[in-house]
Amino acid sequence: FDMGPPGVETNINVVVRCRGRNEREVKENSAVVVETEGAKGKLVELSMGPNALSNKTYNFDRVFSPAADQRMVYDEVVKPVLDEMLGGYNCTIFAYGQTGTGKTYTMSGDMTDTLGLLSDNAGIIPRVLHALFKKLEADETDSLVKCSFIELYNEELRDLISPEENAKLKIFDDTSRKGHATTVVQGMEETHIMNAAQGIKLLQGGSLKRQVAATKCNDLSSRSHTVFTITVCVKQSAEDGEDYVSAGKLNLVDLAGSENIQRSGAENKRAAEAGLINKSLLTLGRVINALVDRSSHIPYRESKLTRLLQDSLGGRTKTCIIATISPARSNLEETISTLDYAFRAK
Ligand code: ADP
Ligand code: MG
Repeated sequence: FDMGPPGVETNINVVVRCRGRNEREVKENSAVVVETEGAKGKLVELSMGPNALSNKTYNFDRVFSPAADQRMVYDEVVKPVLDEMLGGYNCTIFAYGQTGTGKTYTMSGDMTDTLGLLSDNAGIIPRVLHALFKKLEADETDSLVKCSFIELYNEELRDLISPEENAKLKIFDDTSRKGHATTVVQGMEETHIMNAAQGIKLLQGGSLKRQVAATKCNDLSSRSHTVFTITVCVKQSAEDGEDYVSAGKLNLVDLAGSENIQRSGAENKRAAEAGLINKSLLTLGRVINALVDRSSHIPYRESKLTRLLQDSLGGRTKTCIIATISPARSNLEETISTLDYAFRAK
């Protein structure tokens, strides 16, 4: 599968998901300032001031209200991406937004899998694993599926599948594939899975590992990115027999909290950390803007996240950004910056 030159196609789908008010927002009496058109429309309107004249309206490919459930988001946004992936595209779905707005709920959600039955609250990753194996089983081609799950914190990569306590990973340029600038992650576990349940186990195990680390380090969960990657390989004959080659890849990315993007002015050690986190989030924004503008220079190399996803952003790839927001007035400032970031990616 040949990737065209970057910028030839831009296939970026930008959607918004607004959750309902949480307990704290209700208790604080923080007004609902986000208006949408039913469970799934295209517009989102923010009440910014005393009357409707000061309202701000954005238009997206899709806007989900709090009434939209996990299945609706999967059917509308993810189902078509799975088909693209099986058609040979490298695809990426990002959850972007302020901490506490539903990135992890949207990406992972409830991960319980009882004898092949998912919870109604199951997020994108469990659902996509189920749908993928259903499709592959119906299909006759000889294929295999691999998963990796990594975390990026402070511009350092950590393996969430490896049994090692703190499996740090290094990223290198892959020069073996001429003309296709891409990277390899040395030592990354790529686990061959035979069914959806095995994939969900990897997700559960990695998420737990992350939680354990997060209790030791306060900001880890809001400042780190996770990337769960599913690769489908098909058998192809080569000079020296047969080999499985990648025939499509899906990266499911739970990004660091977007509030970290503006907060680099802070003092001391935290400032350094914030600066580094900003680097991947900021660079991702720049890469996406450069792709949208069909710029001749795409700054992939400027952060670990964009290096990692280089072969899945630009060229013959598909990207979807799910921007998650809170409906409450107390979060309005962050909501505006999330919607502005997402809108620039269109
Ligand atoms: P983030 O990962 O962006 O920090 P979470 O996914 O952890 O946020 O969500 C914060 C809380 O809100 C969780 O308890 C989650 O279950 C809940 N939540 C988020 N979005 C929704 C939604 N659309 N419907 C129901 N609950 C939600
Ligand atoms: Mg989260």
